[in-house]
Order: sequence, then structure tokens, then C-alpha cells
Amino acid sequence: MRDIQMVDLKQQYLRIKEEIDSAIHEVLDSSAFINGKPVRDFAQNLETYLGVRHVIPCANGTDALQIALMALGLEPGDEVITPSFTFIATTEVIALLQLKPVFVDVDPRTFCIDPESIKAAISKKTRAIVPVHLYGQAANMEAIMQIAAHHNLFVVEDNAQAIGSTYTFADGTQKKTGAIGTIGCTSFFPSKNLGCYGDGGALFTNDSLLAEKIKMIANHGQSIRYHHDLVGCNSRLDTLQAAVLNVKLKKLDEYIAARQKAAAYYSDAFSQTPEITPPYIAPYTNHVFHQYTIQLEGKNRDELNTYLASFNVPSMLYYPVPAHKQKMFEAFSGSSYDLPVTDWLTRRVISLPMHTELDEEQLEFITEKVKKFINP
Ligand SMILES: *Cc1c(COP(=O)(O)O)cnc(C)c1O
Repeated sequence: MRDIQMVDLKQQYLRIKEEIDSAIHEVLDSSAFINGKPVRDFAQNLETYLGVRHVIPCANGTDALQIALMALGLEPGDEVITPSFTFIATTEVIALLQLKPVFVDVDPRTFCIDPESIKAAISKKTRAIVPVHLYGQAANMEAIMQIAAHHNLFVVEDNAQAIGSTYTFADGTQKKTGAIGTIGCTSFFPSKNLGCYGDGGALFTNDSLLAEKIKMIANHGQSIRYHHDLVGCNSRLDTLQAAVLNVKLKKLDEYIAARQKAAAYYSDAFSQTPEITPPYIAPYTNHVFHQYTIQLEGKNRDELNTYLASFNVPSMLYYPVPAHKQKMFEAFSGSSYDLPVTDWLTRRVISLPMHTELDEEQLEFITEKVKKFINP
């Protein structure tokens, strides 16, 4: 059996090696390392895939979130509602821009931001909501967009973990996650569902004026070279990374299907084990399984983590400390927030290996070990 990894990037590369190597060599031959043609091609290809008017590539997912908030023209002290149960980047950029992160709780089944908690947190200073499509499924965007419309708030979707996921509205219309709010953000970090071979990110929007502003901010605030109208930053996607992404975008749906197949194997194997709560999939979203995350009942997940490691089966705790309990947010009275679902999930969740290259032999080995831990 091949070694089991959380994410098997090597094996995935070997399957597409010829295409990747030739795309990379084309860039080397052209030597247009910055803003080369593959960057423009990729933006267009992703626009088509997502059904969104504008895709603006940038250097990483954290930059995408920061640039999105910069483009909205918020004032210091303005409040931005965000889940605490997320990767730190989502919340960090809010504080970095001197905005105030307002942490709210998540739905115990979907792990995504809870619309009722959003409503309860809205104040006169609220300007934006940043839902996170955690682990690969959409937050309840219909409810979130209704709240936003009612209170005139911007919505910045953190789509770093759910690219390719489809959201279905009550009237049957469908949109890709990231193409629903005011701006969508994503990351192409290698382990993400659409990952490059280094750092990368992008913003999506249907608003042409915002798209222009985003492009300017990501490029030192200029639209005419050496004329700087806004304070911006320097955030670009390398041509080499765009070339890799053009190859991998074509495979994204296939990759999602492989993840869903592995997830189905897991959930089926655990169906007779009441101590395990497998991922719940909300009716309005499909799940692209960036992570396969279970909850344990009556068993210690840290012990499972150690037990699996003793058989060289990796597992991860996403995330052991929620944002509001991080030291960096002491100045924002993080610890004064009462987020019972977030705190509860933080102690219960554990993520099993999930990637496109898992085979049945590996899945059988992993699920047998998990079940053995529960029923020794
Ligand atoms: C990965 C990730 C990011 C940040 O992306 P980087 O490219 O690493 O900067 C932001 N939010 C979430 C939810 C993520 O998973």
C-alpha cells in the first residue's frame, strides 16, 4: 500500500506530469514570468467555470480577502461579521485593516456561519459579512444574502475551501460559491481543491466598477502606469502558477468527484458506528470535500489522532483554537465572546485524509483503524 497522506500532491502531479511540464516549459520559453498570457487565460477560464463576470488573480488567498475589504471603502472601526470557526486568515485581515471583527457562531451540522447569529450581531456600525464555505460546502447563502440586503451590507465570501461547489436557491437557480456575494475570494495554496505549485489566489465579482478598483488595489493603486490613485499593494499570480492552474482547472470537476467518492466510502464505512457523526450535507449545497471532518461522541478525538498516527495514518484538527480565543484578538476582547457551538466543535472535530488519489486499499485501512479505535 502507498503511504497514506493528508494530501497526496506528488501522486496527483505524476498523473498530469506531461501536461504540467509542457505548460511550465512554455512559460520558461516565453520568459514572461509576470502577467504573461497564461495569467489572462486563467482569469478567463475561471470566469467561465464560475459563471462570474470578473476574476482578478492575486498572490494568495489572504491577500484576496484583504484586497476585497480594501475595495469596499470601509472606515476604521467599521464592523465586519465573521465566523470564529475558520482559518485565521479570514479574521486576521479584518483586524489588519483596522476594522473590527465581530465573531459569531456556526451551525453545528454544517460548521458554517449561522444566519441567526449574524442577525443578533448586527449593529449600526456593521458594514460587511464574511461567510466561510468551510471544509467544502456552502454556508446558507440565501439567508445571508437576505440579511445583507435588508441591512445594506456587503458580503465577501471566503471560498478558499469550496471552489467548484454549487449553491441551489429556493427557486431552483444555481450559482457557484464565490459568485454569490459582493466579492468572492479564493486561495490556490497547493493543498486546496484547485491548488497550484506555490502560492496563488483570486477575487471574483460581477460588479465591473468593483473589479476595476480591485485590479488597481492589487497593482499599487494604478490603472495607468506610474499614476497611483489609491493606496494599494503588490499582489500578483505568477505566470508559472497560472500555467499550472490552467491545466488543473480542466480537471477540477474530476478531482471533486474523486473527493466525493472517497467521502462516500468513509461515510458508508462509518454508517454503523454511532460514535461517529459523518459530515452533514445541507440541501442547498453540494459538498466538494476539501476536508472530510467527523465529530466524535463519547470518544476522545485527541486519542484518535495519536492512535491513527501510530499506524502512519495522518489526521488533522481543523481548528484546535477558534479565532476569538487567539491571543492576536485580545485587543478586540475576543475572549468575551460566547460562542458555544464553536467551542464545542473545536473539541470534537477531526479530519481524515482527503485527496484525489485515495484508493480503496487505503480507505479500507483508514476506516478499519478508526473503527478499531472506537470498538477495540
Ligand atoms: C487557505 C485559506 C485561506 C488563505 O489562503 P492562503 O492562500 O494560504 O493565503 C483563507 N481562508 C480559508 C478558509 C482558507 O482555508
